[in-house]
Amino acid sequence: MRTAIISHPHCRKHKMIADHPECPERLDAIADRLLASGLDIAVEQKQAPKASREHYLLVHDESLIRHVENTLPDEGLASLDGDTWLCPDSLKAVERAVGAGLLAVDEVLADNLDAAFCSVRPPGHHATRSASSGFCVYNNLAIAVRYAQRKGVKRIAIVDFDVHHGNGTQDIFMDDENVLFCSLFQYPFYPNTAIENNATLVNSPLPIASDGNDLKALYDQQWLPKLSAFNPELIFISAGFDAHLEDDMASLKFVEDDYIWLTEQLASLSKAHNCKGIISYLEGGYALSALGRSAVAHVKALVDS
Ligand SMILES: [Zn+2]
Repeated sequence: MRTAIISHPHCRKHKMIADHPECPERLDAIADRLLASGLDIAVEQKQAPKASREHYLLVHDESLIRHVENTLPDEGLASLDGDTWLCPDSLKAVERAVGAGLLAVDEVLADNLDAAFCSVRPPGHHATRSASSGFCVYNNLAIAVRYAQRKGVKRIAIVDFDVHHGNGTQDIFMDDENVLFCSLFQYPFYPNTAIENNATLVNSPLPIASDGNDLKALYDQQWLPKLSAFNPELIFISAGFDAHLEDDMASLKFVEDDYIWLTEQLASLSKAHNCKGIISYLEGGYALSALGRSAVAHVKALVDS
């Protein structure tokens, strides 16, 4: 598939407290691995444009946007929720993290691309309509989904394979029958969302030590039938790589081959349903080497599909 990586140097400017796992080096790990793999030649690399307040308002309450703006420190750090911090340059990163998805939507809908990976931070899937949390300021992916809806896309599927539940994304799309949200996550675990399901909400909790075989069973039994029946026009992925065996943020046992397998399944689904494309957003992933290897394996699977 014609695939691009969308990022921006300003995504490194967002800094939190010392030794915080959601650090600028995460993006370096992905970029370094991309170079080492030689895949940088096969993949177009694009700079994320700036998003603006009107885009944040597609998803978030104005009170949250004002709260974030008012919390932004002139120097030092300020806390949004106890583990989500802002530094003076954080909004420069946020506007590019959101902008990456807007560019991805524009390029996919213009048929210039079949797939895009937004290699950006801060992540987004824990941000609800009204609150930033869990390292996430705004819900980058959700804003891009709403933006695609405004551009006329009717049925959108979101697949979230981060080890944590995408509670913010669920909060935003829970009552939208035109958005199918499939989320796997270690359970019980942060953010400890009560597990609910409805016609367009498929939550798939996994016990500690679940591995690639559990992922395959989950996909075949729980997600594929729902995704196929939903017949999406566009597929989004919340691509967190913190379910990796080497990531000690959590206790699942996925490896690179599992991310490749799932990416291939989604690419084949996209083709079978004549989707406009796949837009994947980096969420978690904190073991730097495993993150770099897994993200690049995911992108390579998109390119090779
Ligand atoms: Zn996570």
